[in-house]
Amino acid sequence: MGYQFVKSAAAFAEAKEYIPGGVNSPVRSFRGVGGTPPFIARAAGSRLYDIDGNEYIDYVGSWGPMILGHAHPAVTAALQKAVLQGTSYGAPTLLETELAQLIRLAFPSMELVRMVNSGTEATMSVLRLARAYTKRSRIVKFVGCYHGHHDSLLVKAGSGAATLGVPDSPGVPASVAGGTISVPYNDADALAQVFAQYGDDIAAVIIEPVAGNMGLVPPREGYLQQVRDITGSYGSLLIFDEVMCGFRVAYGGAQALFGIKPDLTCLGKVIGGGLPVGAYGGRRDIMEHIAPAGPVYQAGTLSGNPLAMSAGIATLRTLTADPDMYRKLTGKTAALAVGLRNQAERYGLSLQFHQLGSMFGLFFTDQPVYDYDSATTADTEAFAIYFHTMLENGIYLAPSQFEAGFMSAAHSEADIAATIAASAKAFAKVAERNRTK
Ligand SMILES: *Cc1c(COP(=O)(O)O)cnc(C)c1O
Repeated sequence: MGYQFVKSAAAFAEAKEYIPGGVNSPVRSFRGVGGTPPFIARAAGSRLYDIDGNEYIDYVGSWGPMILGHAHPAVTAALQKAVLQGTSYGAPTLLETELAQLIRLAFPSMELVRMVNSGTEATMSVLRLARAYTKRSRIVKFVGCYHGHHDSLLVKAGSGAATLGVPDSPGVPASVAGGTISVPYNDADALAQVFAQYGDDIAAVIIEPVAGNMGLVPPREGYLQQVRDITGSYGSLLIFDEVMCGFRVAYGGAQALFGIKPDLTCLGKVIGGGLPVGAYGGRRDIMEHIAPAGPVYQAGTLSGNPLAMSAGIATLRTLTADPDMYRKLTGKTAALAVGLRNQAERYGLSLQFHQLGSMFGLFFTDQPVYDYDSATTADTEAFAIYFHTMLENGIYLAPSQFEAGFMSAAHSEADIAATIAASAKAFAKVAERNRTK
């Protein structure tokens, strides 16, 4: 027994010779928790297998897409069929219309859908569209919401409650970041104040209707309706970024769950079934401004390619084939949350547990968490202890306090029981640290 990471450590050292920081996306490097990321060799169902021979129950699911579990037979069969027919033509296919139809069935607000290759591309394109449609320049986002890494949205708040954004990375021009206004999440008064000041120049408000990129932070009751009302009364567009929560908190996403109709929606993750995909869509009269129907330019060499479309179609069809799919996903996630909460109590830890649909998260803080400032009261050192103990007991969680966890259809009751048992050991270690601190 005992997990070893010898080969992964060597692989990580070698990767750093060729790839910045050894990874192609920063959070994979384990910076938030320290240590060596296991290098993954393969995955199946609820499991990941690393190159050292360790096996894990996986709650990252490639950061959300793998809602059916890894290498689901329906998805791999669809991909095998597609790959033999050529992987990209740069010309229209039936598959693109089929996936757009499935998306619109689930998200009726998305009357027209444009496929892109990532969530970042979707949010970038949708802002261009919103500015062109409204002939306004400013964008409002919420502190702690993540919408991808393009310049307009890679901003953080300045000082104060609601502020003009400042670059969140070197290389983001201050002039671009300044066009984005940052507001605290779950605070309708702060949004109303921003609109009172800048409302006539606000093209759009972009929001994660269920925030999943500062840990999991659900919207307060009535909050999304307030956001809808404020944007509507100023003629600004409301954009739901459901790249993560779409097909996760419900098949129809947060907009179905909370009964709010945005003007535009961004999707990604689940709709690609594990291949690179994003999509944006919404009201027909707005979407018809996109080229070639209209003048707003947006294009992509591999957009709507047959592999990604096939994986997405197979995923959505499998999700709807079982009428109980979402009840089961939610039930398993709730069972996990209850189990973890009970173990935490057993060890005298007062933590915050959040769960919605197949998303979950826990914060190592005794404060209620409803926005970025409250999320960052979490004790990241406690999380690191928890995380590493879980990893060494075969449970693969996101290596950061500020990321959500994801349940898949492949997770079994035994998997959940094993996770709760491992959590007891991990919470015991955190409690011990608290005693000796
Ligand atoms: C993951 C994510 C994105 C970015 O998607 P990529 O495919 O990584 O570019 C955008 N918005 C939200 C809410 C996300 O979770």
